[in-house]
Amino acid sequence: MIHIGPHVSSQGSVSFAPLRAKELGATGFALFTKNQRQWRSPELKEEDISAFKKNILDSGYSPKSILPHAGYLINPASPNEEMADKSFNLFMDEGQRVVRLGLETINIHPGAYKEGSMEEGIKRCSLMVDRVLEEVPGLKIALENTAGAGTIIGSKFEELDAILSEIKNKDRVGFTLDTAHLFGAGYDVKGDPDGVLDSFFSRFGEDKLFGMHLNDSKVPLSSNKDRHESIGLGLIGKEAFLTIVKRREVMNIPLILETPDESRWKEEINELLGAAER
Ligand SMILES: [Zn+2]
Ligand SMILES: [Zn+2]
Repeated sequence: MIHIGPHVSSQGSVSFAPLRAKELGATGFALFTKNQRQWRSPELKEEDISAFKKNILDSGYSPKSILPHAGYLINPASPNEEMADKSFNLFMDEGQRVVRLGLETINIHPGAYKEGSMEEGIKRCSLMVDRVLEEVPGLKIALENTAGAGTIIGSKFEELDAILSEIKNKDRVGFTLDTAHLFGAGYDVKGDPDGVLDSFFSRFGEDKLFGMHLNDSKVPLSSNKDRHESIGLGLIGKEAFLTIVKRREVMNIPLILETPDESRWKEEINELLGAAER
């Protein structure tokens, strides 16, 4: 099964997210389980959780086709004690939400080291991932590759590898590859999408790819910038995406559109699903 769909809104109730995805013909989707720009959000209500689970089943989704995204405030690599505490608490809260919703994996950015060395930031990130995994049984974590501006970690496979190698609960950790971030970080997904994926798989193995974010890019190769564009309208171009969705290794993992123009989502899903089936 190929799971393709957008990051849909959970405005009003998380239980609306699967319905919004289904309406677009999506076979998978992403969502935020709380307001992604706030430290505190009300707890999920039992009625929303059961409605979410019912809508998932009714719409033909499964935990394997859904990849919730953690909020942007969390910085697992923070050197600041107060920020690290807040990040840990929110990260744990988001993990618990995911498990309560009957889902398996949360997608999160590895963060920024801000000061000192990248190695120290990597250690802090790994440590926090382990702490969250120990606090939230049943949760898996997908670390998302980044475009790598400033002190942001995780833009190179070497850095993702360094984070993973410091983690104790390795079997519960994998990665999400975002194509726009790959491109920004200098991986030429336009010129050689197969080569980029092959180099990921030869380093980590197939089972470490927990999901992908399929985004075209407004900014050039190696720009270290993160500016998403609709599929086919950016500097990566449509061909790369048609190639990626045909790969055997991306079957059965969520392939998420975080493209900016919602009015194009239906068409993007259709075209990618069509290409995957051929
Ligand atoms: Zn992300
Ligand atoms: Zn992404």
